[in-house]
Amino acid sequence: MSFPRPHFGFGVPDALAEQPHRRLNPLTGEWVLVSPHRALRPWQGQVEEVPADTPEAYDPTCYLCPGNTRAGGHRNPDYAGPFVFDNDFAALKADSPEVQMNVEDILVARGETGVARVICFSPRHDLSLPEMEIPAIRAVVDVWADEYARLGSRPDIGHVQIFENKGEMMGCSNPHPHGQIWAQRSLPMAAARELAHQAEHYRRHRRTLLDDVLQVELRARERLVLENDTFAVFVPFWAVWPFETLVISREPVADVTALDDAGRDGLADVLKRLTARYDNLFGVSFPYSAGLHQAPTDGEDHPEWHLHMHFYPPLLRSATVRKFMVGYEMLGEPQRDVTPESSAERLRAASETPRARRGG
Ligand SMILES: [Zn+2]
Ligand SMILES: [Zn+2]
Repeated sequence: MSFPRPHFGFGVPDALAEQPHRRLNPLTGEWVLVSPHRALRPWQGQVEEVPADTPEAYDPTCYLCPGNTRAGGHRNPDYAGPFVFDNDFAALKADSPEVQMNVEDILVARGETGVARVICFSPRHDLSLPEMEIPAIRAVVDVWADEYARLGSRPDIGHVQIFENKGEMMGCSNPHPHGQIWAQRSLPMAAARELAHQAEHYRRHRRTLLDDVLQVELRARERLVLENDTFAVFVPFWAVWPFETLVISREPVADVTALDDAGRDGLADVLKRLTARYDNLFGVSFPYSAGLHQAPTDGEDHPEWHLHMHFYPPLLRSATVRKFMVGYEMLGEPQRDVTPESSAERLRAASETPRARRGG
């Protein structure tokens, strides 16, 4: 016979930790179905040491390496730090025609303008974020700030999305560590949902939603993965992906340009430590999609917007077993077996020592 443990403080009560339930994502208003009883079977994941394909520091066939020629015929300079250029196969164009379509409010479309850029994190073909030194990651953070400021100041750019697809599993076609910047006129849907929920919270409380989330998580600590003086990283209470994390600035600033030196160094520090833990979780260069969420660049003030970064990794229980969003998740809503609390525990137990020091 067992009795539900009273729910003291911030801990997840046993009844929720063991039984099916739904959790609310306050940033989006969306729910996730959690089925922890399905994960109570013994942990079957094994750390498969997938042999790193030990790339060289420079690859003469890589279109991102310094000095090489890209598909469009452009030649990369012999760059020494991060290198940014317009995507040769851009998903957005600044000069798209101003077309509109509306058939009975049923078939609705509108031309979209924007800019797509690529950012190589460094000239090194073989160093992903966990293997880079913190000053080199800081240089990437500075480029993020510069690009956000420069693109965001344009009257035809309402939102700047900075992101990284890492690994073949995420559809990344080139192993040279790089990210992308898609800046466009309209606010994309994920940002629009988060804007609405952050604005409503700020209107009611005069604090940012993520500041309140952060304070709760720092007291609960059961989903906290790591922290420093300026940033904290945790598995969100409402995480959909098995090892999803949220990186939040302690100061409720709206974008990276508002971070001072210590803040930018702090972001570089948590990015290195988090991605090293990811790599060590299953002994593989950990695939993910990750990106910054910064305030819209629509010319308005956005005191409600709180700088953060999402990491959405697909791996579930080994280097090769991934989570799929299929069936019920396409037709109903996202679902997970392993609780966010146990994922955070595993990430806390993972080492921050880079998996493999490749090259020198
Ligand atoms: Zn390369
Ligand atoms: Zn977000």
